[in-house]
Amino acid sequence: MTTVPASPTARTTTVPPPPLEHLRSPATRAVLRIQQCILTATRELLSREGFMEMLPPVIGPVTDPGARGAKQVDVDYYGHRYKLMTSGILYKQASLLAFDKIFNIAPNVRLEPLETATTHRHLAEFHQIDVEVACATREDVTALAERLIRHVFAACAGGMREELALLGQDVDALRAVADHDFETVSHREAAERLQAMNHPQSYDAELNWVGEEILSRESTRPFFVVDYPKGSRGFYDRESRTTPGVLRNFDLILPGGYGEIISGSEREHEYTRLITRMRETGENPSKYRWYLDVAREGIPASAGFGIGLERLTRAVAGLDAVWRASSFPKIPGVISA
Ligand code: AMP
Ligand code: MG
Repeated sequence: MTTVPASPTARTTTVPPPPLEHLRSPATRAVLRIQQCILTATRELLSREGFMEMLPPVIGPVTDPGARGAKQVDVDYYGHRYKLMTSGILYKQASLLAFDKIFNIAPNVRLEPLETATTHRHLAEFHQIDVEVACATREDVTALAERLIRHVFAACAGGMREELALLGQDVDALRAVADHDFETVSHREAAERLQAMNHPQSYDAELNWVGEEILSRESTRPFFVVDYPKGSRGFYDRESRTTPGVLRNFDLILPGGYGEIISGSEREHEYTRLITRMRETGENPSKYRWYLDVAREGIPASAGFGIGLERLTRAVAGLDAVWRASSFPKIPGVISA
């Protein structure tokens, strides 16, 4: 077994063992059972709240361009250049033509920059639990995300005692998430906190990896960061109509150094605004033909979010690195099964 760092902050690359060793390890099996509990609890809560689970496309002519420095993977589709999904955002919005409340659990492929191999929270292939609600506001979906995460932590605290004990994870750490309200800070407040700690963080950019981890470590409970600046996210995050330059979006950051596990937003859905936002974010609208054709006819206004399943599993199971939450892990830049 390859050595792993003693703490999640250590800046080393941990390389997964070969599949034979990884899959037969009692620790991996405990982690995968916890992941199953997370999925069951997710489906349970969302079904109870009237959500429709839809099966997601894996390839398409375009995919989410908003993936922070990650490269997309091309597929030859009968002579046309298609993409593997980096996220299901475009299809999620379009799916609301069929049902008002939808979710899917989908694989995403992102060739993340090599520097992310040591963050302990990036994989080149991972899964998202993707949720979208027609006519919802950001506040509606942050409340839903909080209900869902608390339900998942409670379900695992109750049903996964043996697995958690085997992994050395304290059930009380799960109860602490399940039993308390989440907090909310604005992106500006988060940047101010980091600057006060002498950590460089621009008011106009995404929270950087290290800053996000510092805030996560400082915190004792999960918190939403809201109102990211325009320019830090994809064209589909809706810009505030009352405060231009600010997006009606959010992340959820977990305490303990686990960092971001959710990104979400109210969506831009109006045809002409979408075209403007695409141009502003350096995207060529002609690439997005099918999506814009649908938007011209009318996509419902919506809000939604995506949860990184492996990151959520890592946090529930108390793992030092996200690759341990994948049965066939792919760390950026590391050649594997
Ligand atoms: P995003 O919309 O790009 O923030 O992705 C949604 C969620 O997917 C994030 O909040 C993470 O939990 C998860 N995620 C994004 N990129 C990765 C990655 N490279 N490896 C593992 N999980 C990821
Ligand atoms: Mg994000």
